[in-house]
Amino acid sequence: MSSMRSHAVRPADHPPPVDVVGEFVTVPTDPEGERIEVGVVIVGGGPAGLACAIRLMQLLETEPALAEALGEVPVALVEKGKATGSHLLSGAMMEPSAMRRLFPGLDEREWPTYGTVAKDDVYLMTRRRALRLPRVPPPFRNHGNHVTSVAQLGRWLGRRAEEAGVYVLPETAAVKLLVEDGVVLGVRTGDKGRGRDGQELSNFEPGSDLIGRATVLAEGTQGHLSGVAIRHLGLGSPDPQGWELGVKEVWQVPRPLDRVVHTMGWPLRSAAKYREFGGSFMYPMGEDKISLGLVVGLDYRDATLSVHDLLQELKTHPFMRRALEGGERIAWGAKTIPAGGYWAMPRRLWAPGMVIAGDAAGMVDVPRLKGVHLAMHAGMHAAEAIFAALRRGDTGDLSAYQAQVESSVIARDLHRSRNMRQPFARGFLIGGAVANAMELSGGRFPGGHWRTHADAEVGVFIGDRDRSYPKPDGKLTFDKLSSVFASGNATRDDAPNHIRIERRVPLAVGLMWQHMCPAHVYEVPEAALEQQGPGSGALPADAIVDVHITPSNCIQCGAITAKGGRLTPAEGGEGPNYQVT
Ligand SMILES: Cc1cc2nc3c(=O)[nH]c(=O)nc-3n(C[C@H](O)[C@H](O)[C@H](O)COP(=O)(O)OP(=O)(O)OC[C@H]3O[C@@H](n4cnc5c(N)ncnc54)[C@H](O)[C@@H]3O)c2cc1C
Ligand code: SF4
Repeated sequence: MSSMRSHAVRPADHPPPVDVVGEFVTVPTDPEGERIEVGVVIVGGGPAGLACAIRLMQLLETEPALAEALGEVPVALVEKGKATGSHLLSGAMMEPSAMRRLFPGLDEREWPTYGTVAKDDVYLMTRRRALRLPRVPPPFRNHGNHVTSVAQLGRWLGRRAEEAGVYVLPETAAVKLLVEDGVVLGVRTGDKGRGRDGQELSNFEPGSDLIGRATVLAEGTQGHLSGVAIRHLGLGSPDPQGWELGVKEVWQVPRPLDRVVHTMGWPLRSAAKYREFGGSFMYPMGEDKISLGLVVGLDYRDATLSVHDLLQELKTHPFMRRALEGGERIAWGAKTIPAGGYWAMPRRLWAPGMVIAGDAAGMVDVPRLKGVHLAMHAGMHAAEAIFAALRRGDTGDLSAYQAQVESSVIARDLHRSRNMRQPFARGFLIGGAVANAMELSGGRFPGGHWRTHADAEVGVFIGDRDRSYPKPDGKLTFDKLSSVFASGNATRDDAPNHIRIERRVPLAVGLMWQHMCPAHVYEVPEAALEQQGPGSGALPADAIVDVHITPSNCIQCGAITAKGGRLTPAEGGEGPNYQVT
């Protein structure tokens, strides 16, 4: 590799053309009589939003007069996917405490899960071998946790919410935050039926102002309005949020997997210069399915790293191959996970009339890869604080939500692992040693405050990670377009572009986007490379190239926002239609 090609370029130096506050914060614009007025507006039908909606209805049932005073629709929930669950993807080993709290009388066998698994194993992988650790490190112990599919959990919780009286609006994206005099009044939903250049098509339907006495932002990872609110209302932490990208497949297999498996090491490289942090998981979903995925921190440096293709490579390992032998891939998807932990959570989780819950506020215990139950707990705390405020007749002060979160399992777990992720920037061995010390000391050592950093501020160079990605065989290994097909993605080809990037960027940034995107949205055309010089091999990392995009492939994983672009909500109903992820 020439020194010019290995020269590092920071994606953050090439910001996307977007004015987050100017474009996405507004006062209500519909005439007064045409606004949709409800009691409480919830944005996002994931674990956080649905737990919030169900808990609110449980509480309102105890006070019928209050429910009545909230009008015809006491609680409305908007979800951009085709259904609640369509945009949900997770591991998912679910810690059961939140389900128990939300449904106290319900037998666990009635939960939409595949039950618990008694055995855990962790393997250190090399290219050919899988070395089982003699003792399972505490973050990987999953005794008592339930294997689930959040896509299925979301549909189940959605039905429960509707049965409880929640007005669920699927295929509806919240695109603007309605704010007046520092008070959040609700959200504006997106238009539908626009063409590629924004023109109104024959089926055009304008969005609406959805107004509530309180608004809950439960948008999950890379939440669009959550980001807008954090910026506009000054709620953020001095430590930037960071992300990991998880790519997952579900396989139908002839032989059951009898344990929960986590792996570390290969295909990631341990040298500090690559900053490759992550690992894989393999969970049994009943007798005949396996959930398999690879999660990698988005602060990596080699522009040719592709989590999609690393997962394909991982499956060629004899250990993985054995588990999948004779099986068939039945689903695929990808999504980011907030990884900044405790220090990167918004300093304030509320503003007058609004709270932020779940992944949208970075509530993930990263070393344990657990967020489902924390999101649900956050949703329930939000419901309780809002209910108390509605009873007082004033939703301006929702600080009770913050107080509840701070004295809950959410703050406890995130605080305990607050300094675990950061040391991995110094390589796997140092990171592993420090994380181990934290675990053994119950989070006390090393103390202090280890700063987080923004993924897009880490320079990327053009390395050679792409040399060993396997050639897709359509049976065990797949290309990105077949994967997108397996996500059920049904975005119109002529939909308006919802991805904002700087189109002319240094080669290292363009190639990084091309490899990073699991859905093959970005491409540095061969022609652009050739115009620059005699073959791409000779081009320096900072040569400016044009990046082409195919937004209709996008499965809304959020990685582009972490690495120097900005995902905005696509039209409601578009994107993947996950069923078992
Ligand atoms: C690969 C992977 C593996 C994981 N493994 C585990 C695990 O094993 N155990 C565990 O506990 N956790 C795991 N997690 C984390 C866990 O999935 C999340 O923490 C959890 O799903 C967060 O729930 P949420 O409700 O906050 O957000 P989400 O689950 O992301 O739900 C948000 C919802 O809001 C909708 N939405 C977003 N913006 C808008 C908008 N503007 N308008 C309308 N709708 C909108 C989205 O479509 C989505 O349906 C994993 C995550 C990943 C990606
Ligand atoms: S274009 Fe879509 S799928 Fe690709 S990285 Fe960006 S958000 Fe993810």
